[in-house]
Amino acid sequence: MRPEDILALTPAGLCCKRGSFHIDPTRPVERALITHAHSDHARAGHGAVLATQETLDLMRLRYGENFAGATQAIGYGESVKLDAVTATFHPAGHVLGSAQIAVEADGLRIVASGDYKNVADPTCAPFELVPCDVFITEATFALPVFRHGNPGGEIAKLLRSVSVFPDRAHLVGAYSLGKAQRLIALLRNAGYDSPIYLHGAMEKITRYYESRGVALGELRLARGATKPTLAGTITICPPSALNDLWTRRFPEPLNAFASGWMRVRARARQQGVALPLVISDHADWDGLTATIAATGASEIWVTHGQEDALVHWCGARGLGARPLDIVGYGEEDDASEAEE
Ligand SMILES: [Zn+2]
Ligand SMILES: [Zn+2]
Repeated sequence: MRPEDILALTPAGLCCKRGSFHIDPTRPVERALITHAHSDHARAGHGAVLATQETLDLMRLRYGENFAGATQAIGYGESVKLDAVTATFHPAGHVLGSAQIAVEADGLRIVASGDYKNVADPTCAPFELVPCDVFITEATFALPVFRHGNPGGEIAKLLRSVSVFPDRAHLVGAYSLGKAQRLIALLRNAGYDSPIYLHGAMEKITRYYESRGVALGELRLARGATKPTLAGTITICPPSALNDLWTRRFPEPLNAFASGWMRVRARARQQGVALPLVISDHADWDGLTATIAATGASEIWVTHGQEDALVHWCGARGLGARPLDIVGYGEEDDASEAEE
């Protein structure tokens, strides 16, 4: 039995023929196992979806009641038998409900980790290390230049700016699923207890996080506030809203953006970001390499991102490694949610 006999790449994405399912398929399929609700991994239109309750709920919020023919919820640590294969879900530490999916057959275990991070996040269950024979890893920030550092330091930078510019409104671009809520939770952990304002596109998902027990303090919609009351406040919005007419309602808006990409200064400048905040929901170079080593896997499959450097790193350590070129994975796309 080779790993390729259990999971193989097809035009719709990773496919397990022996279990009759796909993992995070990029095209509609009969049976999909979904790692998490970001739009590049979780698409509408599958016959049946197996995922955590949170992922199912978030997909429902985004796509509507009929996003799949049938759904089945599975908890962390739970297994399900699919024909000759067993699938078990484990926390991935990426966003609320995110999971790694361990697929086992004939004593061989492959872990498809989806997107993951191995650092603390007050808004989701921590990443769990799952020993395996083959580890499928993302490579979003798989270059040694990407070291995310301590998010607390970035939050302190934001709060310092707010106190230095009390007449200006701080707008923080953040992806509406995961990053926005983590940012709010980090601000609360840093002792910031003023109301935090939200772009309308953030509302549903943020309220859902609260309904799952994530405490986020007092939140208000920016829509309902007058211009003068927004001076000295923090508003979280989709990155795409930072450069549109929507910002006119704010007094002297100052643009911040919370993303792992903010390590690249040119990118921040290009996007007109005055205050880049390096906060990421993906593992950085050290996180990726430490995790790969700790799984004990002898074979590594590398998906979406900077595959080359990671494949090379694995090779230098005597691990078998190859890129898995899955078309359709990438950064979460907020374009469709920018309207308020
Ligand atoms: Zn993701
Ligand atoms: Zn992804």
